[in-house]
Amino acid sequence: MIAPASHIAKHPDKHLDAMRSSRPIAAMADNISSQNIDNDHRELNRRGLLFVLSSPSGAGKSTLAHMLLKADEEIAMSVSVTTRPKRPGEEHGKDYYFVSGDEFEEMVADHSFLEYATVFGNRYATPAAPVNQSLEAGQDVLFDIDWQGTQQLYQRAGQDVVRVFILPPSLDELRNRLESRNTDAPEIIESRMQRAASEISHWDGYDYVLINDDLDACFAKVKQILATERMRRSRQTGLIGFVRDLMAE
Ligand code: ADP
Ligand code: 5GP
Repeated sequence: MIAPASHIAKHPDKHLDAMRSSRPIAAMADNISSQNIDNDHRELNRRGLLFVLSSPSGAGKSTLAHMLLKADEEIAMSVSVTTRPKRPGEEHGKDYYFVSGDEFEEMVADHSFLEYATVFGNRYATPAAPVNQSLEAGQDVLFDIDWQGTQQLYQRAGQDVVRVFILPPSLDELRNRLESRNTDAPEIIESRMQRAASEISHWDGYDYVLINDDLDACFAKVKQILATERMRRSRQTGLIGFVRDLMAE
């Protein structure tokens, strides 16, 4: 049994090397997972999906991602690699894999990443191997990545990607949230606010756009999108056989 990403996250150092040996992304286009849909007690397999949450920093995507992981056992978080310094309270292998610039470049050269980008002057990337492993283990994969990463992921695995953009109700509220989160120095908050408009300008590269005003209401919509996308005909790989049998009855 191949370990899902959530297992890898518990043993980060042992598995950082494992990220270097990824199967080509073409395998992802073939990602027939073993998830079963209970449909009148018949089991129908479906393709795993890649569920992306993006937003300007502070709009609430990490909060929504944590809520989703807690509520839904069929989805695993993609833990990114970054060169940015660890914030207080963050854990290596849980929040990010924190690496040096040289290590990052080595992994780029090894083709270990599905996508990578520079955000706020730091490098961020999605390691490919855990994503493939999660799909093989029958789990959907959740990504907290920016618009650049979303574009790259979509170019590589288009039909399996579901892109959700989270907007704050206002820029004043965005600033309130960044301040009340209490994780960044005032100059960092300022740079995040300055970048917000350019992040928001990419809203139209997403399948769904939600305004995160009331957190519970927004979370309900995120769950609704995921549930609906899982039911898409193209993802229900067992349907052809099921319908064939149905017609033969
Ligand atoms: P992001 O991951 O997009 O940078 P976070 O999830 O860290 O943002 O959220 C930023 C802050 O705003 C956190 O302190 C979080 O608890 C708070 N927050 C998130 N959503 C809401 C909401 N709907 N209403 C009020 N506060 C929120
Ligand atoms: P933070 O440093 O606040 O955790 O994240 C900063 C920004 O980087 C956020 O917009 C987040 O979505 C983005 N990000 C985090 N991981 C990745 C990644 O692996 N790839 C890309 N492209 N962006 C990422």
